[in-house]
Amino acid sequence: MNDVRVRFAPSPTGFFHIGSARTALFNWLYAKHRGGKFILRIEDTDDERDRKEFLDVLIHGLHWLGLHWDEGPDVGGDYGPYFQSQRSDVYQKHIEILGDGGFTYERDGALYFKVSHRPQVIHDLIRGDVSREEEKDFVIVRSNGKPVFHLVNVVDDISMRITHIIRGEDHLSNTSKHIELFNAFGVKPPLFAHIPLILKSQGSGKMSKRDTGALIEDYEKNHFIADAVCNYLCLLGWSPKEDREILPLDEIVRLFDIEDVNRNNARFDEKKMSFFNSEYLRALPFDDFYGRALAVLKSSMPIGEFDIQYVRDVLALCQEKLRSFAELPNFIEYFFTESFAYDRDALAKLQSKFDVQTRLHEFKLAFESLDIVDETSIENLIRELAADHGVNTGEYIHSVRFAVSGRTVGPGLFGLLRVLGKQVILKRLNAFLSQN
Ligand code: GLU
Repeated sequence: MNDVRVRFAPSPTGFFHIGSARTALFNWLYAKHRGGKFILRIEDTDDERDRKEFLDVLIHGLHWLGLHWDEGPDVGGDYGPYFQSQRSDVYQKHIEILGDGGFTYERDGALYFKVSHRPQVIHDLIRGDVSREEEKDFVIVRSNGKPVFHLVNVVDDISMRITHIIRGEDHLSNTSKHIELFNAFGVKPPLFAHIPLILKSQGSGKMSKRDTGALIEDYEKNHFIADAVCNYLCLLGWSPKEDREILPLDEIVRLFDIEDVNRNNARFDEKKMSFFNSEYLRALPFDDFYGRALAVLKSSMPIGEFDIQYVRDVLALCQEKLRSFAELPNFIEYFFTESFAYDRDALAKLQSKFDVQTRLHEFKLAFESLDIVDETSIENLIRELAADHGVNTGEYIHSVRFAVSGRTVGPGLFGLLRVLGKQVILKRLNAFLSQN
């Protein structure tokens, strides 16, 4: 069998939508799985709707996701050019071939393709064989001289030697036309795989570009981890046979097969995407996490004024509890400023359960004479206090956390105190006690 050649063939008429990204990803996965080639072809034949900005966003988004192509814009290849706008001579030649074969006729200035009036069987790797008959002749060159999508799409798939066409189910209705054209050119059609739609998180509608989470560029802007996004996108229509869902991409490459893609529509789940992202974030090797965190913080926090080791300690402490890089600046704010906000509602809740001020006075007194401030010494100190006063350790833990950070959630308290250091802790305890 020929080597696998698949293509992603976007039209740059809008921002890079999650549905397109998933189509690109399934093509890429299939190419990698079969040791074939992944080709990027730009279907830029719509002068009115194509925009350079959309093309740039698309190219950038594909690179960001890690879906690099073997042939296409920037990298070239043996079957270029890879922009349809640069392939007019190829189309012209093929229009002549169809004319010579008696497959076309002109009417009202447009060129029509004569259909065979025979049912066409689409060998679809996901849906099985689908039989459809084209009833009407269709236009292949408009009266303004421009060849239409059906023609250029098929001509390029032929001349770029595409072996498998993996595309959205919305194209299924075009495929019998395309098979008619393949037949007229005397070329055996590639195998098809029409992948299911992505529905929005609620209701039965298709996910549109206006729905939250629909645009790939937003994931980058919100500092998502690209591998997490890819991992989640794989599961929109495909699932590994084992029950694991969070899998490294190279393992997905090994397990993925286009025939295992589900026929049913997939549903986008924003929460699940965020959950994947947080799992990936926690699993990052620390140096990788650190590098990404610095990039996020550069513009929002004065971290440059702090000792590098301190910044590393803060981030090491927070990695485990952080859910997304987008929330990082807020999550660690109080490590880098004394003017952080106190969550008054959270404090009121604590105060309704126990006497925060008294616990803090007791803690401060004991803490002042602590020589070494590390996890163990703080934990022991709090245990002793709790035993002495006959209260739960939680009363100290919650009170101290609140006084030094202004909130009731965050990294483990003992580590937090170690990193803040004695001086800062005492300063904040005093400030809190004098104001409350
Ligand atoms: N340009 C078409 C689209 O963006 C490509 C269809 C195909 O993959 O054949 O929908």
